[in-house]
Amino acid sequence: MSASITERLRAGIVLGAEGYVFELERRGYIKAGPFVPEVVLDYPDAVRELHREFLRAGAQVMVALTYYAHREKLRDVGREGDLEAMNRQAVRIARQVARESSAGGGALVAGNVCNTWAYDPEDPATVATVRAMYAEQLGWAADEGVDFVISETNDYLGEALIALEVIQDLGLPAMVTMAPTQPHRTRDGYEYADACRILAAEGAQIVGLNCDRGPRTMVPLIAKIRESVECAVAMQPVPYRTDAIAPTMETLLSPKGDRAFPIELDPFTCTRFDMAKFALQARELGVDYIGICCGAGPHHVRAMAEALGREVPASKYSPSMELHPMFRAEVSPKDAAFLPSWNA
Ligand SMILES: [Zn+2]
Repeated sequence: MSASITERLRAGIVLGAEGYVFELERRGYIKAGPFVPEVVLDYPDAVRELHREFLRAGAQVMVALTYYAHREKLRDVGREGDLEAMNRQAVRIARQVARESSAGGGALVAGNVCNTWAYDPEDPATVATVRAMYAEQLGWAADEGVDFVISETNDYLGEALIALEVIQDLGLPAMVTMAPTQPHRTRDGYEYADACRILAAEGAQIVGLNCDRGPRTMVPLIAKIRESVECAVAMQPVPYRTDAIAPTMETLLSPKGDRAFPIELDPFTCTRFDMAKFALQARELGVDYIGICCGAGPHHVRAMAEALGREVPASKYSPSMELHPMFRAEVSPKDAAFLPSWNA
């Protein structure tokens, strides 16, 4: 019997990894714009492979790729009829790879829901619509077998609370995170720390922030959240170099002055060293669930795991620059002749 998410968090930091949609878009399996994970049905091996890469890099949770696999989004791409199959298959794939884990007890499997774009705090009728969307997605996920559920990129506390209720109705632990696109508050006007305090009071086991902000601009908000709640805190920034001028990935501008989000963000990508530093900073802050979101690559995750003192399967191939002909202690005279051009 493998330890639950709450038991694992009590024992230490849990390392997560997300960003499946962005990475599979880059690999040519998801269409940017709608960002619907059709890949789950169309190219399941591509999903399996990315799960495996994150697992080998040290991720302790396999998050089922059901982000945006909800009724509203599938309707946009004309695949509403595939809704159930897509949701069930995503969980099956995550479970299958989680079992490949060499770590004791295997990796955990998380069901996943996100903001629906259907919620409107001014329109009470949308509450039932959103609840029904979450209930069907998570009903299938629970049926296939998940260890807990991550409700993420929530713009509204109101919508996050609907997800929390549905997760609790299924008797599953909940990790609920808000999307910090605004400077201080959710779109329905709660300071992020207050929103997290309310979610914790309502019974979420893990609260925090994910997506939109890079490590540098997410840290101050997480510090406030850490002070405000007793429960576990999650932090899953995007690996982009956001700063005071452009605090979110949506506000980053290309050299031409265009919005770089979502498909021109590459020049802002954090290095593995940036993300290793972030992991240590998050640990220092008292973050319990340290992860990464859109833009993540397995090299980031491995660097984070190793910064936390872990040796993971992919560590077998971690850099050994002392074996590089130009970086070894004694560079041969022939190879040393390369140096002038390398240093030019
Ligand atoms: Zn993200």
